[in-house]
Amino acid sequence: MTTEGQTRAGRRGPSRTLVLPETLTVKQLSELVDQSPVDVIKQLMRNGIMVSMNQMIDHEVASLVTAAYGIRTRVAEAVAETGSLNSSDGMIEDEASFVSRPPVVTILGHVDHGKTSLLDSIRNAHVADREVGGITQHIGAYQVEYSGQRITFLDTPGHEAFTSIRSRGARVTDIAVLVVAADDGIMPQTEEAIDHAKAAEVPIVVAINKMDLPGADPERVKRQLSQHNLLVEDWGGDIISVPVSARTGDGIDELLENLLIVAEISELKANPSRSASGVVIEAKLDRKRGPMATVLVQSGTLGVGDFVIAGTAWGRVKAINNDRGRAVKGVLPGEPAELLGFGSLPEAGDLMAVMPNERTVRGLAHDRERAKSSQQSQVRALTLEEVVKQIDAGDIKELNLVLKADVQGSVEAVRQSLERLTEAEARVRILHAGSGNVTESDVLLASASEAIIVGFAVGNEIGVERVAERMGVEIRHYSIIYQMIDDVEQALHGMLEPTFTDIVLGEAEVREIFPARRNVKIAGCRVTNGRIPRGSAIRILRDGELLEETSIASLRHFRDEVNEITNGMDCGILLEDYNDFEIGDILQAHRQERSQR
Ligand code: GDP
Repeated sequence: MTTEGQTRAGRRGPSRTLVLPETLTVKQLSELVDQSPVDVIKQLMRNGIMVSMNQMIDHEVASLVTAAYGIRTRVAEAVAETGSLNSSDGMIEDEASFVSRPPVVTILGHVDHGKTSLLDSIRNAHVADREVGGITQHIGAYQVEYSGQRITFLDTPGHEAFTSIRSRGARVTDIAVLVVAADDGIMPQTEEAIDHAKAAEVPIVVAINKMDLPGADPERVKRQLSQHNLLVEDWGGDIISVPVSARTGDGIDELLENLLIVAEISELKANPSRSASGVVIEAKLDRKRGPMATVLVQSGTLGVGDFVIAGTAWGRVKAINNDRGRAVKGVLPGEPAELLGFGSLPEAGDLMAVMPNERTVRGLAHDRERAKSSQQSQVRALTLEEVVKQIDAGDIKELNLVLKADVQGSVEAVRQSLERLTEAEARVRILHAGSGNVTESDVLLASASEAIIVGFAVGNEIGVERVAERMGVEIRHYSIIYQMIDDVEQALHGMLEPTFTDIVLGEAEVREIFPARRNVKIAGCRVTNGRIPRGSAIRILRDGELLEETSIASLRHFRDEVNEITNGMDCGILLEDYNDFEIGDILQAHRQERSQR
């Protein structure tokens, strides 16, 4: 029962910390954190930073990666002062700086099984700040106190929110509470929640809720849990289950007590005496006060006056409020708080970090902004072919899959055939298998765990393709089981060859030519069919003949940079390194798509 973060920290010794040099290469960082360079590059991409393996990054950027892996770091001060570079190895931080921190708990489970009621019941009985006048504020997370210890609860229950934050590269939850209504038993979303928690490698505590109802049957729930490989203690396993009633409050104390036990086993520690880092849980725009962000501090102490960055949003902390609406001066690891001072709205799941001064924070925000605009439409999907390359290179040993099939019978049949395909090089790990169309929740899970979705005789729910494209998740549909098995088997052997088809997205005709700068021209165009997305590959055709291939550097509608121009609309196109177009030329946007079998 450990989170991945703890496992890694454990490998380095539970109370040790990586001391980062002022600057280092991506490859050096990957060695320090014991991850493949590809993984580290992906983590950086999630933060809007595009780098190659041998590129230098500074320790602040590096700490975004280490935070995502749950590894504590600090900068080597001597190195930072002299500016010298000796980064072949990390150093170890004094273990005396580490203190226990509160566990962060998320509540998961099927709709109507009582997740919200349970969160309310816990909050009402055990709020951390009992002083008169403190009014509970809904800031996205709250803390309770039990037996003199604190527990942090995330206020947005459900596996979608849980996995969505994880898919942004952040690791927030230490313990998942799986709520199962005692009268209803395990339902489809309970199964999904179990799979999402398992994929995140987070310990699970089961709350068997609605025990006050006459139809409550906790034994049936335990039996059903065992069918999902969750063996509760009185079934000989190590999963803690607690009968509760969110309505009467029965069992809530036992639940909190058990959460503290799991937290203790997990040895959750953090160093409060370094500059803070954490994760944005929620953000909203207050009409009077401006952007307000709830952050969960994971390491260090956050204080008023600190320069903070999260995604591309940055600012200086003007005020901090706790979950009781009180102004506080500092926030410790494991604590949530609402910050005032960001110049724009960060997004939930963004990693937050404190920087030493305005110059650094502004510079990093600027770099991220630039990286974001040049890469926006080019999220690279993790494809089966890419997995093959990584297996070949020995970078990964597991092929993570999310499996969807038309009926429960075929789910089981396909799952068994796939799981049998374990090879010496790699094995198949099915994170979630279910019946029905591919959903957004499947895509989130695949994105958070770098999995590929395989569908047998199913389709995608509306809107899913766009989400998958945006998040860089590959969905492969099959109508013949044999072909699916064959592809996965070949992938494991490292033999799958991709086949590509060229897809024309749209065409625009050049109608006017404007000078932009010296030797640079803008093509004033009208889209004559389809759509022209920003950043797409372009063929320049004159009288039906291919003249040149390039891509779009900038796409404008009047003065505004836009993501896409559709049929019938006018736009200004700046091409990458090409200015010799003439009126009447056709700019054809296209992309390469892998052919499905
Ligand atoms: P959620 O969808 O999982 O967040 O579920 P809610 O917390 O909204 O609860 C769904 C319904 O179950 C509501 O009508 C609650 O009043 C009811 N409920 C929740 N917990 C209990 C409980 O312990 N006992 C009983 N009898 N009803 C409960």
